[in-house]
Amino acid sequence: MALNIESIKERIAELRKLEGVGSSSIPAILKSEGFTRRDFLKWAGAMTILLGLPSSFTPLVAEAAEVADRVPVVWLHLAECTGCSESLLRTDAPTIDNLIFNYINLQYHDTIMAAAGWQAETNYEEALQKFKNRFILCVEGGVPTKNNGQFLTIGPHAETGLEKLKRTAAEAAAVISVGTCSSFGGIQAAKPNPTEAKGVGEVLGRTVVNIPGCPPSAKNIVGTIVYYILFGALPPLDNFNRPKWAYGLRIHDLCERRGHFDAGEFVEEFGDQGAQNGFCLYKVGCKGPYTFNNCSRERFNQHTSWPVQAGHGCIGCSEPDFWDTMAPYEEPLAKHQFSSAMADSSADKVGITILTLAGVAVAAHGLISAIKNPKE
Ligand code: SF4
Ligand code: SF4
Repeated sequence: MALNIESIKERIAELRKLEGVGSSSIPAILKSEGFTRRDFLKWAGAMTILLGLPSSFTPLVAEAAEVADRVPVVWLHLAECTGCSESLLRTDAPTIDNLIFNYINLQYHDTIMAAAGWQAETNYEEALQKFKNRFILCVEGGVPTKNNGQFLTIGPHAETGLEKLKRTAAEAAAVISVGTCSSFGGIQAAKPNPTEAKGVGEVLGRTVVNIPGCPPSAKNIVGTIVYYILFGALPPLDNFNRPKWAYGLRIHDLCERRGHFDAGEFVEEFGDQGAQNGFCLYKVGCKGPYTFNNCSRERFNQHTSWPVQAGHGCIGCSEPDFWDTMAPYEEPLAKHQFSSAMADSSADKVGITILTLAGVAVAAHGLISAIKNPKE
């Protein structure tokens, strides 16, 4: 990634010339929601750090966020529950990330656009023509591929999701898979996967940015869009095509209960004294040691809390095949066969030794060491 400030400024200046969505700009919307300019610049500073950029980039990140409503986005819904869109759009205390996300330039979105029927189809075709090779395609949902995709048809022509995805992606500048379903197939790809649901990248055979999570955080989506505006390119990705800046560490690495894991202090069952003391949730099924995401750092709901803080273990929702490989969710994986994307097992050595002493992780250490990529 070249940090060429002049080309970033040019890209932002070009975007500023384009029309935004609606009559209000993103800064005006933030102001009307009670966020001051100072709040916004603080957010931009935090986002700059999150993206792994020098702090001198903060003003550029702020500018990129301000023009996020200029980048045309086509949003397809395939096989899924619409939970990703729901969770991102329907929040009663929106964060700056939520508000920016709410005002991206959605040219087409199956669920929330006002148009319906033929009008919606016309909008879709026009967006493809007008913004050819310039729009970002966001996909929510897995892709049923069995019987040429006949398990999912969309719109008045009964076009399959598979066809619509391929046709749209062929005109897109970049493709982002929003959520675990579009990244890796989702729960509908769980064994025995009757519709042969797959992730978008696997179907398209091209590099797609995966933002997995069930649902994914608005910060990870907005950060990816801001990165794209700044550099006109996709961010560095891990071996599951997840942005490294968001998915580079495990939940376990920055968990506030990590000290208890290292000290061998565990919740033995929900509601016990260990739970009241805030001990580690590994023995009641936390999959944080195997899961790459930034929930323990970024949290949810205005940074107030996240599942482990609330008392339940991580279920590994941002990992491929988590529905099959991470279950049962309230038992430690040490008891089960497991494959992981993990690239580094060294950080676990102390805790795993403790677990072994505790009689829990008889199999875990060997399994964690024998990491293999499920795609291989
Ligand atoms: S096992 Fe879970 S609860 Fe325990 S330290 Fe790791 S992430 Fe936190
Ligand atoms: S804590 Fe784990 S299960 Fe919960 S959202 Fe984050 S990655 Fe998914």
